[in-house]
Amino acid sequence: MKRILLEVFLAIALVGAAVFGFMNQKTAKTATAQITELKKAAEEAENTVKEKEEAIKTAEEEAAALHEEMAAMEEKANQLEAVKAALANGSTLSDLESAYKKEKSLSAERQVGLGAIRMLTKGAEDPATLEAFRKALQMSELGDRKNTICAAQLGLLAAGEKVKVMSDCLPKSEKAKGDKEEKDGHSKDDGHDHGKDGKAKGKDDGHGDKKEEKHAAPHWGYEGEMGPDKWGKEFPTCAAGKSQSPLDIKNPFVKTRMVVTADYKEGPLKVLNNGHTIQVIVTPGSKLRIDGVAHDLLQFHFHRPSEEKIDGKPMAMVVHFVHKNAEGKLAVLGVLLKEGNENPGIKTLWANLPKEEGVEYAPDGVNFNPGNLLPREFDYYSYEGSLTTPPCTEGVRFFILKTTVNIAKEQVQAFPFKMNARPVQPLNGREILTN
Ligand SMILES: [Zn+2]
Repeated sequence: MKRILLEVFLAIALVGAAVFGFMNQKTAKTATAQITELKKAAEEAENTVKEKEEAIKTAEEEAAALHEEMAAMEEKANQLEAVKAALANGSTLSDLESAYKKEKSLSAERQVGLGAIRMLTKGAEDPATLEAFRKALQMSELGDRKNTICAAQLGLLAAGEKVKVMSDCLPKSEKAKGDKEEKDGHSKDDGHDHGKDGKAKGKDDGHGDKKEEKHAAPHWGYEGEMGPDKWGKEFPTCAAGKSQSPLDIKNPFVKTRMVVTADYKEGPLKVLNNGHTIQVIVTPGSKLRIDGVAHDLLQFHFHRPSEEKIDGKPMAMVVHFVHKNAEGKLAVLGVLLKEGNENPGIKTLWANLPKEEGVEYAPDGVNFNPGNLLPREFDYYSYEGSLTTPPCTEGVRFFILKTTVNIAKEQVQAFPFKMNARPVQPLNGREILTN
């Protein structure tokens, strides 16, 4: 009888530990380890009981002590059971599930909620639980929404995933450790196609600290061991994603009436070599309107040769203009550069390339209007894609203009990167729209 009581307490303790585990994996681990130890001790005690009555008393005392310790946890366990029961009978989960299937309208916050509810009802091992947290993390990283990033990262951590948790998300005791990890910089990409890796590197330059430099070294490239077919090892979406960019754009096309216009403004020139491309950081105010919805131009950058192919053929280069709307949705406008006459806009940019990698260069008195790189005609191909660089986050709407813009052969050759184009990705049933 005592043994049965003990088992019941232990079971409750385990459930309690799982609740704590959702908030803090470490606590859960410690609790689980303690409980396992106690269970072992109790089992040993049970065996001894058969021989020595004194041992029974010890086990009873242990059980009593355990009971007291777990009384607080029991309450939490009951709450958990209540939540589980409500969800099992109610429609909340199925509502969320159907929203999840439509998924495009699900916010990062709801994704976290879905992950949490899945974890409670289906468990942390359920692949969809992890997927919900992963998706929430990707979505919130783009929008730089810290609370959601924290919730998603802690959710994955609690589910036993190896995930880098931002230092601000951790309890104070864990913070020192987290600060160190955060310098890796991947978790804070802010949706820029070619992120802030470069900036972080710039800060580390001049430290003279070799370890730091090694830490900031790029984790991916376009060739060999760090090439595109290896990106998936560190950035799972690059390999597992089903709507990846770039694409080979070819028939069949689906007609659309989506109206796209660019309203770009002149501003002080700021150029960055981030180690993967040349990126121009744009002052706020330039917009791309998609059916009237404003998307702010954040930056534009170059690939050589063009990442997109038209009917299997690449162009000499492509410019990607990266935009974000108020909801955090990204849109990339691609302008293909074809070998021909000299391009005056490129001339200005190439004359102001930064000497140093990872440091923004803002020449005195030089202004630039990104509109100088656009053709007059705005006929386009459009599809749902992803960032073409790690972490390859999906949910990016692409518009590739049909009209190309000239660039001189010498200008192509003067671009500091010989090859920085990701290969084309499988269409996987996506529609390519055209106006
Ligand atoms: Zn790009």
